Amino acid sequence: MTRILIVGAGFAGAVHARELADAGFEVDVIDKRNHIGGNCFDYVHESGVRIHRYGPHLFHTSSQKVVDWLTRFTGWIPYEHRVVARLSDKRLVPLPVNLDTINEVFGTRFETEDAVTAFLTTKSVARSEITSAEEYLYSAIGTELTDLFFRPYTSKMWGMSLSEIDAAVVRRLQIRTSRDDRYFLDDSFQAMPKDGFTTLFERMLNHPRIHVRLSEAFDKERSEQYDFCFNSMPIDEYYSFAFGELPYRSIKFHLIEVPITQAQSRVVINYTDASPYTRETWWHVLPGHHIYRTNNVVQTIEEPCDYRLNNFERYYPVKNKDGRFDLVYRRYAEQRSHGGHMNFIGRCGTYQYLDMHQVINQSLMNVQKWLRDRASFQAS
Ligand SMILES: Cc1cc2nc3c(=O)[nH]c(=O)nc-3n(C[C@H](O)[C@H](O)[C@H](O)COP(=O)(O)OP(=O)(O)OC[C@H]3O[C@@H](n4cnc5c(N)ncnc54)[C@H](O)[C@@H]3O)c2cc1C
Repeated sequence: MTRILIVGAGFAGAVHARELADAGFEVDVIDKRNHIGGNCFDYVHESGVRIHRYGPHLFHTSSQKVVDWLTRFTGWIPYEHRVVARLSDKRLVPLPVNLDTINEVFGTRFETEDAVTAFLTTKSVARSEITSAEEYLYSAIGTELTDLFFRPYTSKMWGMSLSEIDAAVVRRLQIRTSRDDRYFLDDSFQAMPKDGFTTLFERMLNHPRIHVRLSEAFDKERSEQYDFCFNSMPIDEYYSFAFGELPYRSIKFHLIEVPITQAQSRVVINYTDASPYTRETWWHVLPGHHIYRTNNVVQTIEEPCDYRLNNFERYYPVKNKDGRFDLVYRRYAEQRSHGGHMNFIGRCGTYQYLDMHQVINQSLMNVQKWLRDRASFQAS
């Protein structure tokens, strides 16, 4: 009987576990935390509000395959996410920057996309080469919008200046010339799991061939008892940092209980100021998150920091414009671990920022490939 170990009960580990159990394998899942769900874990706080412990997780995708797969384990509540930014005079404006943001900031009265495009062209600062986030933003939207919406936010979020960060980090943040203020404009499916993420994970892992052990960290010796291991632990940690550390940004989440009479009606408000905090989340406004009523609700305020200052909680891989950490990662990825019987998976196993739908899709494909390779090896 082939015995499989899966390290990590986040989306990468849980999708692998379920697919392999459905394919007939016995699977042990371990996680060093005392809960399943990885960074998508949520729970109901004593104020009656469902909270995502590791920051707001909004599900969005254009992959019908991913939606169909997840729908085996959850119903959905349609939800299109919208974010506003708070300016220094307390006005709230749409984010990503759109036509209305530009009218508010510059006092203009544009009504058409063409007018906004022409305006941004006058603001653009031409650059011959674009490698840093600053060069990209200056050429796309000019100095004022860059300095207002991106400079302080980026330096708090990444602990680096815009000129040190790879353009790819900000390229995925859209600049809109329309009035559309949906945060995930391009995704055809946007919804929240009806009973929360943790319940979705409970159902995914509820299978007679899946055995979950929590509060158990990966141990090399114990892993030798298994025929194969899918591992979502940080790859540099597995190799005892032999080629150097792969750094991450982390976030400290400050929970504040607030009388419901003083609550905001926006889900997420980003800060444009120079304080150490980046944004606040009001959980009760998210559909399906106000589970029962008390006099209070909860707000979470985020304070980014180096992962060493937050108990080595790894959230966002650091992407410098010189790509030096990607090179370090490649050296780890080239190693043949566990006699070729180990696959590194997920965000920390592959040192990439991945949205949930991307991790799910990659995991589904990875299991299919593993099963195909195994079948052809056995046939040969
Ligand atoms: C603040 C924040 C907000 C986000 N918002 C969104 C969003 O709105 N939409 C979206 O699609 N995605 C969002 N994401 C991304 C989402 O969290 C990831 O796509 C998802 O969590 C990746 O799953 P994973 O299994 O790769 O990693 P994780 O969820 O991190 O799971 C890995 C698990 O492995 C365990 N582990 C690590 N090392 C060991 C070890 N040595 N031994 C045992 N267990 C170990 C960890 O405890 C963890 O539970 C967000 C991420 C962050 C950080």
